[in-house]
Amino acid sequence: MHDTSEAVGETMPSGWFSSLITDWRGVKLRPSLLVAIGCGVVVLLTALLLGEQYAASALATRERLIGNDLVASVDSILNLVRSRRRTELAALAGRPCGDVLRPLSKLQTYIPYIRGANLVVDGRVYCSSGLGPIDVPLSVYLTPSAAGASINLLPQTPYHPNEPVLVMFDATGKGTGILYIIDGDYIADALSHGVRYGAQYAALSIAGVALLTDDGAFVPLSKSPPVYAMRVASSAWPLSIMVSPSADFVSQMRWKYGLIFGAAGVLLDILIAAAYLLVFAPRRLLLAAVHRALRQDEFHVVYQPVVDLASRDAVGVEALLRWHHPKWGPVSPALFMSEVESSTLHAAVTRFVLHTVVADMSRHAPMPPLRVAVNISPRDLGRKGFVAEVLAVSGRLPQGVSLTLELTERFLLDKSVHTAAIFRTLRTQGIKFAIDDFGTHNSNLDLLGRFPFDFIKIDRQFVSQVDTGGAELIKGIVAMARHFGLQVIAEGVETEAQHQALQDVGVRFGQGYLYQRPLRAEQLASRLQEHR
Ligand code: C2E
Ligand code: MG
Ligand code: MG
Repeated sequence: MHDTSEAVGETMPSGWFSSLITDWRGVKLRPSLLVAIGCGVVVLLTALLLGEQYAASALATRERLIGNDLVASVDSILNLVRSRRRTELAALAGRPCGDVLRPLSKLQTYIPYIRGANLVVDGRVYCSSGLGPIDVPLSVYLTPSAAGASINLLPQTPYHPNEPVLVMFDATGKGTGILYIIDGDYIADALSHGVRYGAQYAALSIAGVALLTDDGAFVPLSKSPPVYAMRVASSAWPLSIMVSPSADFVSQMRWKYGLIFGAAGVLLDILIAAAYLLVFAPRRLLLAAVHRALRQDEFHVVYQPVVDLASRDAVGVEALLRWHHPKWGPVSPALFMSEVESSTLHAAVTRFVLHTVVADMSRHAPMPPLRVAVNISPRDLGRKGFVAEVLAVSGRLPQGVSLTLELTERFLLDKSVHTAAIFRTLRTQGIKFAIDDFGTHNSNLDLLGRFPFDFIKIDRQFVSQVDTGGAELIKGIVAMARHFGLQVIAEGVETEAQHQALQDVGVRFGQGYLYQRPLRAEQLASRLQEHR
């Protein structure tokens, strides 16, 4: 019964297609698509968030720069006021105003930024460079610090109402010294430089007192608006500068970094999408091709006899799917069935095989009795209407032809209650079950007890070793099959030595190229007849 009917039939599709399919077989699409979309969203959100952070940090850097610059300007005003002609002025403090008014007025003209220089003795301001003798307590202007110079912001002075000023008292002795009245406008002018360089607002703040804004307004701290984002303290004077960025600058930075990071995020998303397509496109391509193949009749079914080893008579056939792609040529089911089985196409493929088997057996009825075995997909058992479908097909088979369903072990492990119920229903209607590729997956002997199988098909990988030291394993399987009342079919028998060894260990049935390669239905009837 030797034949070469399928000798050239099952080539691998060539080149890139072959390798891509084999590389990515078994990868599920849906969860991976969700993961890819999730990654894309996370990447984009992270990029936008980073853009915001960079914009905020760029703004803070700019504000700090402006703040430092303004602190340096105000420090230099105060240092200049305090240092200019100080020795001569200090020599006047404590002397009668009448005696020192002229030199005081003259010295005042050398000092920039001030409205007046006043002399203080015993805690009272007694002589003004502009007004002559006066008598005002120093505490009206400020509370002097224990050492060095003290400063204060005032909305006005007793002699200049509604004119904000910065006052500085430079002590030369206890309660004695020089009180400078610095024009608030100068300070405001210095602050407005910051505004020119990108700040919206800038203000001078003296701790716990008030603000002097860049437009020269005195604002008590309690009424200070919370618009200042950055505070930079002076290390030389008890003051700090507060700055807030301009709206234009803020939006400029946000756009700049938003665009940079947004573009990077989009680029990464494109890479993720490209990687996703690269990984999953072959699978989609393959499934789309299978879908088209079903519609365009590119599939057919071939039949490989199962023989009784003793007589070599065919007792049954296994229906095997074949795909002849118009461009790729013959594509082995081993290459596409695992993808099909993990997709929604599995039902259509099983249905195609079942219906083709009925049509083939009706048209080219080989001599009965004959068992026709059909491989079913893991997910067939879980699908609605499967039992009814199988019963309908079985009912349409010619007299003497019976149906066997082949299942691999791997999918019997889950959903066992449901599966066992299907077994029971179908077996009462004369349909038999074979456990396929026995021993290749996590063999679970318990399965044989739990599911009422009729046949065990020993996988080719064990059969190929039966005559080269692997007989013990098959002997064990045969003993176990006997224990459970099952018949054993050896798959992939290729040599006479294997045939003999299988018989020796008590295997009853065999299937393989030694007896017959898979055949088209039209050849099958005559070949079986001829043989019998
Ligand atoms: P399987 O059910 O174990 O089918 C036996 C495989 O062994 C077939 O490969 C058959 O051509 C091959 N074969 C038979 N005798 C020999 C031999 O002596 N030597 C060698 N090297 N191989 C031999 P095929 O047709 O390529 O099928 C591969 C697998 O694809 C099948 O393994 C089965 O799991 C699956 N398959 C095939 N047709 C269908 C189908 O209609 N539905 C489902 N769900 N799966 C199918
Ligand atoms: Mg099979
Ligand atoms: Mg098998």
